[in-house]
Amino acid sequence: MSTILSVENLSKIYTLGSGLFGPSRELVALNDISLTVKAGETLAIVGESGCGKTSLGRCIIQAQPATEGRVYYHPKDAAKVELTALSKRELKPWRRDVRMIFQDPMSSLNPNMRVFDLVAEPLRIHRIARGRELEERVYDVLAKVGIPSDAAGRYPHAFSGGQRQRIGIARALVLDPKLVIADEAVSALDVSIQAQVLNLLDDLKEEFGLTYIFISHDLGVVNYIADRVVVMYLGHVVENAPTDLLFERPRHPYTEMLLAALPVADPTRRKGRSTTPRGEIPYLGNRPQGCPFHTRCKYAQDRCRSEKPALRAIDGTDQMAACHFAEALELQGAFEAPQKASA
Ligand code: SF4
Repeated sequence: MSTILSVENLSKIYTLGSGLFGPSRELVALNDISLTVKAGETLAIVGESGCGKTSLGRCIIQAQPATEGRVYYHPKDAAKVELTALSKRELKPWRRDVRMIFQDPMSSLNPNMRVFDLVAEPLRIHRIARGRELEERVYDVLAKVGIPSDAAGRYPHAFSGGQRQRIGIARALVLDPKLVIADEAVSALDVSIQAQVLNLLDDLKEEFGLTYIFISHDLGVVNYIADRVVVMYLGHVVENAPTDLLFERPRHPYTEMLLAALPVADPTRRKGRSTTPRGEIPYLGNRPQGCPFHTRCKYAQDRCRSEKPALRAIDGTDQMAACHFAEALELQGAFEAPQKASA
């Protein structure tokens, strides 16, 4: 598979407080992130709240500037483009190719616009279609996401959460993008509706030839939809692996901890293994020295408190982990594969 997006040494640092209110402090949301997304795959980015996954999505689509590093988009038949080097005006054509689906469709959809205009808006902004052609494209994409044409004159509040998310998806897809970043796209929905929207995203991936970056805190959802998983902790990538490998044999203790917290059908199979995440996530402005996970890691040794582990390939596979002892630790995977969603 060819590369569609690459991220090189990306960092995002927020500076808090200064001058009258005391010395400024740095809050490192992203620390030297590098990853590659292959065309046609679904790459999931997971981690607890505050791990930096949403900041990463926003830096990729240039909704906020990175402090350091580069993001490259690789169009199919042209040279790669450094998105981080482009002005707002220069970015505009690439915003058609790289689109975002947001967590809360109610706040991302203008409540004063009818569904037709919400979906038509990106076509108008990018001056791609008008008149009959615009109408056809809007009704076509609405049909593909399961919104009937006679609902196009209604306002967002007239729809359920799942239907609103379908409208958000239609807005993203109406420009015929290549890469879609879905930020917690189903986490605000009931479980049964989640399954429907995940199935829809899966179907649309085939139909539109899409690549997804799927940002989520929910490993059960990730197992359903992702080909590869990037696990983030305190702004670092701590593991990057094919989904099956990650669930069967995680190589980072943080991944093991997340997998242990997954719900299972038969709790007796846990054999006394703790399912409660250990400790608290450190404040981003006061990050531990050495391995960022050492304050919560039950395998931590002296070396972990002083030496930061690099992200590296383990045993010559395409599974990467940032742990000094990744080869030696016998970490446990998921007790059972989380249930696949069904419509
Ligand atoms: S480097 Fe040490 S503290 Fe960090 S994850 Fe590995 S064992 Fe745990």
